[in-house]
Amino acid sequence: MIRGNMRGLSQMEDGKTAGAGVFGCGKVREKSVSAVEHADGFDYEIVRSRRRTLSIQVTRDGRVEVRCPMRMPLRQVRAFVEEHGEWVRQHLAGVREQMEERPIFTEAEIRQYREKARRGLTEKTGWWAARMGVTYGRIAIRQQATRWGSCSAKGNLNFNWVLVLLPEELQDYVVVHELAHRREMNHSPRFWKIVEEQIPDYAARRKRLKEYAGYVDPQTAPPDWEDG
Ligand SMILES: [Zn+2]
Repeated sequence: MIRGNMRGLSQMEDGKTAGAGVFGCGKVREKSVSAVEHADGFDYEIVRSRRRTLSIQVTRDGRVEVRCPMRMPLRQVRAFVEEHGEWVRQHLAGVREQMEERPIFTEAEIRQYREKARRGLTEKTGWWAARMGVTYGRIAIRQQATRWGSCSAKGNLNFNWVLVLLPEELQDYVVVHELAHRREMNHSPRFWKIVEEQIPDYAARRKRLKEYAGYVDPQTAPPDWEDG
C-alpha cells in the first residue's frame, strides 16, 4: 500500500512539536464549549475537554484549534497561544500554500479523469505484470482520500484516480509497487528489491510522489497519512 504524506496537519502540545498525528493523551472524553479567539495573524478555536494539557493544532484546512482543560483560565490559554504564535503562523503559511497547489475539479471533469485513469492504469498494470511475471485480479479506480494504490491478499488492485494527474513515471512506480506486493505482502527489503529490479530509481520517485500529497482533499485525509 502507498499512502500519501500529508504535511498539512501540525500540532504542538505543551511546547513540544508532535508533528502530524493524533493526540496520544488519554481516551476520547466529553468536549465542551468552543469559542473563537483572535491572535496576531490568525483566529483560533478553543475546545475545552477533560484533558490535562494544552495543545495547538493547525488543521489541514487551515484552522487553528486550541485544546485545553475544562476550567483553565482564558488568560492562560491566550498566553500559551501567544507563546507559540510564530509556530502557528509558520504552519498556517505552509498549509495555505499546499491548499493553493491543490487542483479543484468539477464532477464532470472527475468522471473524465477516472475514465482516463481506468484505461491508462489498466494498460500499465498489464504491461508491468507481464514483465514482472505476476498475476492480479480486478482493478478498481477509486476516489481514495489516503492512498495512491493498494493490493489485496487476493490480488485485487485499487488505484486512486488522482494518479492520472501525476507524471507517467510516478504512475509507473505506483503500479510496480502494488504488483510487487503480489510477491511480498509487506515492505521488507525483499519487497523493495523487487521494486528496484523494475525501477532502479524508485527511491527518488517515491520521494517525488510525496510532493503530490496536496492533490488529495485535505479534509478527508486522516491525520496518520504517511508513506508506506
Ligand atoms: Zn505497499
